[in-house]
Amino acid sequence: MARYTDAVCKLCRREQQKLFLKGDKCYTKCVLEKKPGIPGMAKPQRGKPSAYAIRLREKQKLRRLIQMNERPFESRVAEASKAREASGDHLLRGLELRLDNMVRRMGVATSLRTARQLVKHGHVKIGGRSVNIPSYPVKPGDVISLNPKMKENVGIKLSLETAKRLNQRPAFVEFDETTLSAKVLRIPERAEMSFPINDQLIIEYYSR
Ligand code: SF4
Repeated sequence: MARYTDAVCKLCRREQQKLFLKGDKCYTKCVLEKKPGIPGMAKPQRGKPSAYAIRLREKQKLRRLIQMNERPFESRVAEASKAREASGDHLLRGLELRLDNMVRRMGVATSLRTARQLVKHGHVKIGGRSVNIPSYPVKPGDVISLNPKMKENVGIKLSLETAKRLNQRPAFVEFDETTLSAKVLRIPERAEMSFPINDQLIIEYYSR
């Protein structure tokens, strides 16, 4: 499946929810607030959505939050269904601990897209070794760090200011601004994860 290259705000408008896909701009100039309608739909939908539609929308919302194509996402769900713990917990924890998401949660990038770019361009290290795979699974005890020369990067400086202002760095990460590094202290709890979705509906969507 091709990479999504259209305007990301359309995705929020389709889900009728702020998905914070544009970083800083989402807090100042949100398109959803100016254009609240669903793209391509002149009139609002009538009647109650079907059970299938509710589950489909929940699945699409999570896929868009983590910016993943359908096939790898489906594989993640299939893997989660085989886990010993609750499938939804396993799925969300795996997505939360992806390297690109952790870089965003450290506060050195305000959007997942920017965080992924930092990883792909080789600016991110784990335990001193460069890792350029956005889906790399981070484990408790891992130390994620940014190349020291990135300290002077304007985008990084702005992201750090935003992180300070919003104060949303999770408690399971210990961030050190002087070295631009973060230690993952433990497995995140459900309430600490970045996904405001109902994971059960997603599991049900794929088990139909
Ligand atoms: Fe979504 Fe951000 Fe665009 Fe608002 S500005 S619609 S939150 S991507």
